[in-house]
Amino acid sequence: MFLKGKTALVTGSTSGIGLACARALAAEGANVILNGFGDAAEIEGFRTELAEASGAEARYSAADLTKADAIEAMIGQAEELGGVDILVNNAGTQHVAPIDEFPPEKWDLILALNLSAAFHTVRLALPGMKAKGWGRIVNTASAHSLVASPNKAPYVASKHAIAGLTKAVALETATSGVTINCISPGYVWTTLVENQIPDTMKARGLTREQVMNDVLLAAQPTKKFVTVDEVAALCLFLCRDEARSITGANLSMDGGWTAA
Ligand code: NAD
Repeated sequence: MFLKGKTALVTGSTSGIGLACARALAAEGANVILNGFGDAAEIEGFRTELAEASGAEARYSAADLTKADAIEAMIGQAEELGGVDILVNNAGTQHVAPIDEFPPEKWDLILALNLSAAFHTVRLALPGMKAKGWGRIVNTASAHSLVASPNKAPYVASKHAIAGLTKAVALETATSGVTINCISPGYVWTTLVENQIPDTMKARGLTREQVMNDVLLAAQPTKKFVTVDEVAALCLFLCRDEARSITGANLSMDGGWTAA
């Protein structure tokens, strides 16, 4: 358990990639702060599961990360556990529409959650990490931090920007013992993706395999989804001492998508 005594804050960890990262960090003994929306009883179940796995503390913050004051309160909550040692900026959202039809409020939401929230968590957590001479920041970016797709302009802009933020902060923190990196997954198998399959099968008259390979995985040469556990394993590796020289990197995990 190499993370005993460390505290990890994982944003957007009530489902999908964030929950898998929280589980991986807890399995190595870290205190974990969960964050995100969802069913209260289900979240309490995750919290107790994590505390049992780590033998340490597991807390939950309901902070809405589009609000700077809520982020400040969440970082304050982490102070009770000695402050944030590992920060995983993972919460994110998507909306699909052509740019000239894109609702301005959706632009504001996507930029606030996918980008500005990370600015706030980093600026608030970094002083404590620097004081300890150790810290790990992992940002869930996307293949869309490197390449674009139509009808996703705000998402693509936010993910390119988080990769830029990562590089700039890496240079500022290079001698401090803190590393900051992005993980850029392609399509990840989450319930969000799974739920789209039956409707697409019906709408387009396709089989399940055709929807997976020709629609969802059209851009992913392996024709396989990335799994949340694969992303979490890379996140965990970045927290190891052996990863101390990896900083400012944008690590693709996209089945070859951005190699094409
Ligand atoms: P998900 O929908 O399963 O998880 C999103 C999480 O963010 C949830 O816990 C949700 O409650 C939380 N959240 C939403 N709005 C919030 C808010 N205002 N404040 C706080 N929390 C909020 O999605 P996921 O697929 O696990 O995505 C996680 C990250 O991975 C996102 O940044 C996403 O852009 C990125 N990503 C996903 C994929 C994919 O194919 N699933 C691919 C590349 C990148």
